[in-house]
Amino acid sequence: MTTPDMPWGAYAPGMAQLPGTQVPGTALPGTTPPGMAPPPGPPGLAASQQPPGEPVPPGQPTAGSAATRSGQFTPEAARRDIPVLQRPVNGRPVVWLDNGATTQKPRQVIETLASYYATANSNIHRGAHTMAREATEMYEGGRAAVAGFLGAPSPDTIVFTRGTTEAVNLVAQSWGRANLGPGDEILVSTLEHHSNIVPWQLIAKERRARVVPIPLLPDGSIDQDAYADLLSFRTRLVAISHASNVLGTVPPVKEMTALAHRYDAKVLVDGAQAVAHFPVDVQDLDSDFYVFSGHKLYAPTGIGALYAKPEVLAGMPPWQGGGNMIDQVEFGRVTYAPVPHRFEAGTGHISGVVGLRSAIDWLSSFGREAVAAYETALLGHAQQALAAVPGLTVLGDAPEKIAVLTFTLAGHDPMTVARWLDRAGIAVRAGHHCAQPSLRHYGLEAATRASLALYNTAEEVDQLAASLTQLQSLTQLQLQGAG
Ligand code: PMP
Repeated sequence: MTTPDMPWGAYAPGMAQLPGTQVPGTALPGTTPPGMAPPPGPPGLAASQQPPGEPVPPGQPTAGSAATRSGQFTPEAARRDIPVLQRPVNGRPVVWLDNGATTQKPRQVIETLASYYATANSNIHRGAHTMAREATEMYEGGRAAVAGFLGAPSPDTIVFTRGTTEAVNLVAQSWGRANLGPGDEILVSTLEHHSNIVPWQLIAKERRARVVPIPLLPDGSIDQDAYADLLSFRTRLVAISHASNVLGTVPPVKEMTALAHRYDAKVLVDGAQAVAHFPVDVQDLDSDFYVFSGHKLYAPTGIGALYAKPEVLAGMPPWQGGGNMIDQVEFGRVTYAPVPHRFEAGTGHISGVVGLRSAIDWLSSFGREAVAAYETALLGHAQQALAAVPGLTVLGDAPEKIAVLTFTLAGHDPMTVARWLDRAGIAVRAGHHCAQPSLRHYGLEAATRASLALYNTAEEVDQLAASLTQLQSLTQLQLQGAG
């Protein structure tokens, strides 16, 4: 079974191979395009390995989860689980170096989603029937899994959102509207994604507060002296990334938080680029708010989470009204549900939560320290490989950095570079990366970005460097020909 626009036999949702429901003659879809060798080793840890007729209940640990894997990490083991990495792009096996934008999904997550809809779909919280109860347990189980993943003290500190952007907006609109006033300051680091800048600008304008940028040093780290100088008793909130999506910088969030707390300021940490790459413990960081997106964590799009300290969340007013978030509604009076439900108006992304839990399980099964160590080694390799490309300059060289390599290539605009790489099946991103202030720090409006994940290999990085070197050589030849 193929889809018209993906003639090589891509995974299609309806093709999910649920245990005991496989259509005879249909192989697990999307794994081996015609003409390509099957992935080495066992075919991953698919739900299809469960005995027929015994579905893996969605939301339960699947084979390959932390409960069943030894914790040994190799990129090859991760790759075996990611069907899309088997597809060709422009005739070459895809090299996915656009993980900062979104990560590819493991088979375990894809199958959990399909299994949820095939065996368990129901709305949650208000049903009086078995499937509603089961779906509610899965959803709330997902909340507990996120709490565990972040080191949060309780599931009640986790609010599900569409992602990082919605989580920051929630805090700005709820906490911000209730706590900011004229003359108050929100310190925002210059390396923030627009989603951790603009929501603060919007609420600051409404509340007549001020957004104050924290400057960067030339290496792309946050200027800690300037930060210390900017903090004052006017500071109500500090907004910082746990990892920059453009420069890769990992700021000293714990130390910056401790300093902010001396002034009674709250700290919001944007973990969008952090959670997939290194272990996070919100209690150790002492964050007041921590936000992330599932889709950068091998989970589906449209689901993410906000962590807030219990005492902070308890004092926050609702930001959206609707079903699920209320206690009693009369025309003269309304009372609200307890946290975290007070912040989850309407029907949530139930399957997204189930998929997010599966992704957390999948990532955790490798050992997050082991993944972080591997990615750091891969970053070192990439830095060396790219340093050998003539005319290439990598932006950002902070002492702590995730494997994000944003660069310029002399003589070529970033979009041309990305298109050139795409012809070789290498997916990178070009543009402003929704972080214009970080690029302007280097006097740039755009750059090309390769962002690595646990399933990327040194060979893929070498392909990137080789393709860029080839572009430079061809350009040199053309120039010589013209001269
Ligand atoms: N913050 C950072 C650091 C990011 O990299 C991104 C996504 N590029 C976001 C926030 C926004 O995430 P989302 O679009 O998933 O809400």
